[in-house]
Amino acid sequence: MSVVMNLVLDQYLKQIDALLVQAGAVCETFAEVGGYALKGYSLVRENAPAVYISTGMHGDEPAGPLALLELLEDDLLERNLTFYICPCLNPTGLSLKTRENGLEFGGIDMNRDYILQQTAEITGHVRWLKKLVPNSPELFISLHEDWESGGYYFYEINCTGDKPERYEYLVDRLKDVMLMEAEQVIDEHEVRREGWIYHEAESDIPEGWPEAIYMAKNGCPLSFTFESPSALAMNHRVAAHVVAVNSVLDYEYGD
Ligand SMILES: [Zn+2]
Repeated sequence: MSVVMNLVLDQYLKQIDALLVQAGAVCETFAEVGGYALKGYSLVRENAPAVYISTGMHGDEPAGPLALLELLEDDLLERNLTFYICPCLNPTGLSLKTRENGLEFGGIDMNRDYILQQTAEITGHVRWLKKLVPNSPELFISLHEDWESGGYYFYEINCTGDKPERYEYLVDRLKDVMLMEAEQVIDEHEVRREGWIYHEAESDIPEGWPEAIYMAKNGCPLSFTFESPSALAMNHRVAAHVVAVNSVLDYEYGD
């Protein structure tokens, strides 16, 4: 594992677009910000469960986009699922390597903008998400990083039925790649088990809804927000995201 990984935004967007369009996905531009088109892709398979994956919300967290690229280059889309994919929600932040979007576009943490919708990015994104109804996603996965943690962790929002055994399965798969975060309190949340924040479907900040709360409030019954530790090498944290996504999909739908 000595490959040097680095997110080159323009190249990433082209590669992602080629892979998705080649697989038959329909692309829709839902916002244009700073010369970048924000795109949502839909690959609809009849009678297949719908899964929505988003990355690139925080511009200083490139592991998510790179993991998505790796998943698409592998066999993600060969699974018999309907996929909705937003590969880059914050292109201006990613180009500047900032958590927020570019200053001239608000300098806002867009993962707190799903109620107020102060940014063109999230306003367009919500409009796009609303159109997924009636074939709306039953599973939402988003890929992030954490600059403070030393291990892997995730948020689960579950409105469909508790499955603690799924945690065991995920951790068992992840342990070959990365240790779970050992702290009992992560990001001000007490963990349920190591690296597992079992989060209610309510926002920590009433007016600052993140994407996962928006999804839960709009009928998506299950979501995972995966957090890879920025302190570790890029290839390491990308590998953990790839395993996490595949593990959830394997658990829910078989491999
Ligand atoms: Zn993030």
